[in-house]
Amino acid sequence: MSSYNHTLGVHAGREDLRELGVHALPVDLSTTYPLQDLGTGTASLDALVAGDAEADNPVYARLLNPTVARFEKALARMEAAEAAVGFASGMAALTAIVLATQARGREIVAVRPIYGTSDHLLDSGLLGNSVKWTTADKVADAITSETAFVLIETPANPTLELVDIAGVVRQAGDVPVVVDSTFATPVLQRPLEQGAAMVLHSATKFLGGHGDVIAGVVACSEAMAAGLRQVRVATGALMHPWAAYLLHRSLPTLKLRVERAQQTASDLVERLQAHPAITRVFYPGRSGDTQHRLLERQMNGGGCILAFELAEGYEAASKVMRSVSLMTPAVSLGSVDTLIQHPAGLTHRVVSDAGRESGGIGSGLLRLSVGLEEADDLWEDLSRALTAARQAPTDPSSCAAPLRGECPSVLKTA
Ligand SMILES: *Cc1c(COP(=O)(O)O)cnc(C)c1O
Repeated sequence: MSSYNHTLGVHAGREDLRELGVHALPVDLSTTYPLQDLGTGTASLDALVAGDAEADNPVYARLLNPTVARFEKALARMEAAEAAVGFASGMAALTAIVLATQARGREIVAVRPIYGTSDHLLDSGLLGNSVKWTTADKVADAITSETAFVLIETPANPTLELVDIAGVVRQAGDVPVVVDSTFATPVLQRPLEQGAAMVLHSATKFLGGHGDVIAGVVACSEAMAAGLRQVRVATGALMHPWAAYLLHRSLPTLKLRVERAQQTASDLVERLQAHPAITRVFYPGRSGDTQHRLLERQMNGGGCILAFELAEGYEAASKVMRSVSLMTPAVSLGSVDTLIQHPAGLTHRVVSDAGRESGGIGSGLLRLSVGLEEADDLWEDLSRALTAARQAPTDPSSCAAPLRGECPSVLKTA
């Protein structure tokens, strides 16, 4: 089980600040760097294009940025990884993994459900790969000599299903297993310690934590990080230094934020469980003994995201979204404030009907990202919205039809 503590969160990536004579994190916004000595410039450029983490001179900010590198060092320590590589977004990070593992013309094995756009990126064939969807217990059967990597997400978005990381790693053999650990953060789960090859975070979520940064990061071995840096140098999906600064600034409070919101989430789970308008509550470790044992083995707690299914389906769900006032009806998650959204209509809109069905993403499902507000205040807001949803007359302009089939922007090239 992972050991992550407050001291690490506060001090990681700040080890040299005293030596530098500063207290706050320095920010370097340079796009280019003076190169008095051409030989040093050439050697640095060669090293960085080959995927090295450091060089005597950064040369150009697409090759290396010291502020981003500082955040990467901190995140690597938090994940107990040799290295971490920052990207412009979580999706840019996943794209770099697909490119660096040379999945083009080959196959990715993945377990549904995963984040809607990750599902779409793999399934659409946009990057020239194919995908084989499977379940966590059948990964071994799905793998062939053409498998580039296995992708799992745990807890999964949006049903909070847990996937047995060590179990999937055992089945995968030599094939690298990538774990999207966005929902867990390194506070609750460290997949590399369970044998995963790479950990992916949408840093936009809990790592940033304040709803004002879009970024992604991958933690892995130095050898794999070099491949990711090569892709980043060539394709330019960079984490901006200002984003890296904001992320790094948020790391010292990560454990406090996650543990506080987690406490509130489990409180709300209890109250939702007893509510007559709700048929099912989704929260890690709740759906059966196997999931509960897995939670104990693999995580330090269930986290801050929950979902629930409304008996009256899409109609009621859209009314709840309209009726909340303290919570923000919006996509995304992991912010200091509470967000509520409808996966089938929003985050998982780009997933095929079959994918939504097999992933258990129904039309009455709402997902809640619990923030730092008082549990009683959140419950007052939510229970009032649930009551309003039951009492309000049906709005003829809202129907479940848009959930079916015809999302216009979905590209299918595979
Ligand atoms: C948001 C999210 C992503 C995508 O990250 P972006 O930063 O929005 O590109 C990937 N995986 C999960 C689990 C997410 O929640």
